[in-house]
Amino acid sequence: MRKSLNLGIILLFIMCFLYLSSFYKVNALENHSGDNVANADEKVVFLTFDDGPSRNNTPKILNILKENNVYGTFFVVGYKAESNPELVKRLRDNGMCVLPHSYSHNYKSLYSSVDGFMKDLERCTNVIEDATGERILKVFRFPGGSDNRVSSLDTMKDIRATVRDKGYKYVDWNISSEDATAYRVSVSKIVNSVKKDSRGAKVGVVLMHDAEAKDTTVEALPYIIKNFKENGYVFKTFDEATESDIKTMELCRIINRE
Ligand SMILES: [Zn+2]
Repeated sequence: MRKSLNLGIILLFIMCFLYLSSFYKVNALENHSGDNVANADEKVVFLTFDDGPSRNNTPKILNILKENNVYGTFFVVGYKAESNPELVKRLRDNGMCVLPHSYSHNYKSLYSSVDGFMKDLERCTNVIEDATGERILKVFRFPGGSDNRVSSLDTMKDIRATVRDKGYKYVDWNISSEDATAYRVSVSKIVNSVKKDSRGAKVGVVLMHDAEAKDTTVEALPYIIKNFKENGYVFKTFDEATESDIKTMELCRIINRE
């Protein structure tokens, strides 16, 4: 009799424990502001292409991304987007994220003053929005990166502070394809640079270029995608970045580096 009573108490205790632990899990999910707890160990990669659109390479890049069923982010140059609005529209229609990389890409004029920079950024934003017919995120990439030394250190600091105040996020990178280190960079150098920089990265933002001369970047792209897939990365665009992705990128000094 006493034995079965003890057994009953133990069973009751186990049931209470199971009930409480399931309750805890539900709350953990709810407290995660929309991010899935099951994805806490997820590795994420953002493929980014600067300097486009380009008539010869944008369609090729788009085809490779589509063939591999992955999406990327294009930081486009305003004057190029203005003369090729159909390419911008095509990128967007195929689920790619299109964001500004300045209108002029002219370092000298772009970084001469805060005012000049803001006008240029706005102009690039308008070109993209006109081409796609929709509003874009307040996310962009500085030509030369956020720590470029083209303007005086003070002017650059003011520009960074102003865009942050206005609610923009600027995106640098932690994985470089090195495809802009020379006019022509070999496919193996591009693939190996990406592999080397991505080792151990939980979040990766890959810098590549979509420019007329960058055909080796296009050739390298399938190998780059294959490598990230084999290493279990989830591909995202900046439209899809979660709050936790953004927080991680801020901590890694990829977004809004001061
Ligand atoms: Zn650029």
